[in-house]
Amino acid sequence: MGKPFRIVLLGPPNSGKGTQAERLAETLGIPSISTGEMLRAAVATGSELGKRAGEVMAKGELVDDELMAEIVSDRLAEADAQQGFILDGYPRTAPQAETLAAILERLETRLDAVLLVDADEDVLIARALGRGRSDDSEDVMRERLRVYRAKTAPLIEHYDRLGVLRSIDGNHSIEEVGRRIESALGIAGG
Ligand code: AMP
Repeated sequence: MGKPFRIVLLGPPNSGKGTQAERLAETLGIPSISTGEMLRAAVATGSELGKRAGEVMAKGELVDDELMAEIVSDRLAEADAQQGFILDGYPRTAPQAETLAAILERLETRLDAVLLVDADEDVLIARALGRGRSDDSEDVMRERLRVYRAKTAPLIEHYDRLGVLRSIDGNHSIEEVGRRIESALGIAGG
């Protein structure tokens, strides 16, 4: 492939960014790194850490920034992430954005793009209820949205100021959103 891509996918829960992260990772031949998936894997092991994270996740709240910093810096140090990566679900808070900037500085690299995938609130909630994952009851979904608006949405302006933000309308089909992402990144659609 051509240039390495270092991409963050930003957006509310159920905006479709996880699906798009995986598609794009396949297209570009780089790993999609989902912190939510990594945490769910930790929960599945039944470890002490997994139990702690699981309780926080079940309420729709955020796992603490220190633990997330450890998880993400270890993951980005792995060999497969050196030629690019797509981060799905990190950063989610201002301190996490600072941690990511510090990690990238240490690796002497920077983000190429932050893709904001957003959709209307009724679409997000309908998708959440359709999916039926255990942490997707309507109350938890609304809490996840509230946390997103309060803690994560401010990152939109932060990355916009840095000139790396591209906004994608996530109300469309998976294929259409995928096409829009590829065109925003300037990669030829297949
Ligand atoms: P996700 O699959 O990205 O929606 O993440 C599922 C849950 O994992 C979130 O609701 C949080 O509780 C937790 N989580 C995932 N990524 C992060 C993060 N970067 N910071 C804090 N908590 C996270």
